[in-house]
Amino acid sequence: MIQLFIPLNFLGFVYREIRRSLTDIENMLALLKRDAKIVDLENAPALKVTKGDIDWKQVNFAYNSDRPILQNLDLVIRAGTKVAIVGSSGAGKSTVARLLYRFYDINSGAIEIDGQNIQQVTQESLRKAIAIVPQDTVLFNTSIRENIAYGNPQASDEDINRAIRMAHLENFIASLPEGDKTLVGERGLKVSGGEKQRIAIARVLLKNSPILIFDEATSALDSHSEAAIVDAMREVAAGRTTLVIAHRLSTVVDADKIIVLDNGTVAEQGTHLELLGQQGRYAQMWAMQLQEE
Ligand code: ADP
Ligand code: MG
Repeated sequence: MIQLFIPLNFLGFVYREIRRSLTDIENMLALLKRDAKIVDLENAPALKVTKGDIDWKQVNFAYNSDRPILQNLDLVIRAGTKVAIVGSSGAGKSTVARLLYRFYDINSGAIEIDGQNIQQVTQESLRKAIAIVPQDTVLFNTSIRENIAYGNPQASDEDINRAIRMAHLENFIASLPEGDKTLVGERGLKVSGGEKQRIAIARVLLKNSPILIFDEATSALDSHSEAAIVDAMREVAAGRTTLVIAHRLSTVVDADKIIVLDNGTVAEQGTHLELLGQQGRYAQMWAMQLQEE
């Protein structure tokens, strides 16, 4: 996993702008990296999440026009349910997460949240509604505590401490020379992949959004820490619409629906038991993982 630190001072204006209006580090990344074409419509309304239904309708998407990534993708995520996406590396799983967050605009079709096309609402309201643990978490050159609090600038000390406990960061923080005031980054502490993931999970726990995305959120954790954190994630996901992208199938067994993505289309879908019964690709992946363990 790459280590990527952004020196806050250098970002000056951009940082203050975002700090004022937005709550998520993903927004900053989006602002820095996004395609200039991704703009709010004039007088775009804010997204109103009433239930948290997500509908993908015949979505086509390519990063470069000569190579389609998602093809006529239909995907329904009912409010309050947990949908998992599995599939081989390069299948397009992270792309699904990025498109829902509107890092990129799709080429045709529509993505709707409670019937509202995500391209027709403000990006700020969309990104407020979604909390994401991305595949690669970016940390700022600031204290551990500020890095966590970035999930929600309004959070109280108590809220932050609770997120730290739930993400199992307590022992790690206690071991640091200056505790949660320890600086992270180039001239500060080097943070491991697993610790970064736990910081990202703490941010999500703080953000309190109706829609959650976990993109291989525990891939860098050992299976013992993973089990503990999966419990915390389950707790926070209860009653919210959740999209889980997983490489270890043991974390998706309880999903309401599992989608097997292959070459940008849905190859199989169903519950864990249904898919095992179909004896197709999912059943194969499951058998392989059992063997490895
Ligand atoms: P997964 O998460 O399932 O491993 P991704 O959604 O990250 O797959 O990627 C799907 C495909 O899109 C891959 O072939 C990948 O190389 C390509 N891809 C991902 N990001 C970009 C990008 N920024 N520009 C061009 N191609 C990309
Ligand atoms: Mg991925």
